Amino acid sequence: MSWQVRTGADVWRFTAIIAVAALLGSVALRFALLPVDLAMRTLLPGSAMALLIGAPIAWFVGQRMRAVARLGDRLEHALHHDLLTGVHTRLSFYERTATITAQSCAVIVTDIDNFKGFNDRHGHFAGDQALRQFAAILTANCRSGDIVARFGGEEFVIVIMGAGMAEGHAIADRLAERVRTSQIFFGEHTLRLTASFGVAELPPDGDMDRTIQQADRALYRAKRSGRDRACRFDPDLDGAAIPMGTAAE
Ligand code: GH3
Ligand code: MG
Ligand code: MG
Repeated sequence: MSWQVRTGADVWRFTAIIAVAALLGSVALRFALLPVDLAMRTLLPGSAMALLIGAPIAWFVGQRMRAVARLGDRLEHALHHDLLTGVHTRLSFYERTATITAQSCAVIVTDIDNFKGFNDRHGHFAGDQALRQFAAILTANCRSGDIVARFGGEEFVIVIMGAGMAEGHAIADRLAERVRTSQIFFGEHTLRLTASFGVAELPPDGDMDRTIQQADRALYRAKRSGRDRACRFDPDLDGAAIPMGTAAE
């Protein structure tokens, strides 16, 4: 049997197993420690006592184990999924991308344009709704094997598996267009936003952080060039190092 106690049925199974073990243990002890006639005479009341004490305790412990297992599941989910948007967290991103070695991937860093102004104009709740919808657009326009993660407030990183720079750039262009043409419904208001994208290519056995930084530099250029567009990393144009997270500052 599995000692994972997650459901009500698991609690009852656990209780039954512990109760039977208590019963058998009390019978065995009785015959081991007492003369046979005394063991026989106390068999029924002794067994009933073992069941009456063992079963409720086992049920209580089973309920506690179930609560701990559920808490563990929730913790695991919270560690790997962004609370607001449901996409991968940074931790989950690095866990998943750690195993990418044999194939090249396109890495896209994206940041919503003028989002501070959006929050100021429409309020923080509208901003949250926009973030949820933005993440949904990114996810809906990627394949299920691709990775979409929220790295910061309104900054997301996408990994397109098996794609090179050209395909990654085409996907980023398409994402920019989808964001631009989507409507964000908030109460009776219909709002719009745009986002900028930077693209870089992770070669086989390449360094993910270095590639993210390259995509971030390209994103910075997309912002400087007027926003609402995708730029691919070009060492001639994006030479200066810019630490992660500062592209949209
Ligand atoms: P840029 O086009 O250069 O990226 O400008 P920006 O205004 O988007 O960039 P800036 O970094 O100045 O502002 C980011 C804003 O994102 C500020 C912050 O209030 C907002 N933000 C970050 N996280 C959240 C969130 O979880 N919910 C909401 N509603 N807003 C958020
Ligand atoms: Mg921004
Ligand atoms: Mg930003």
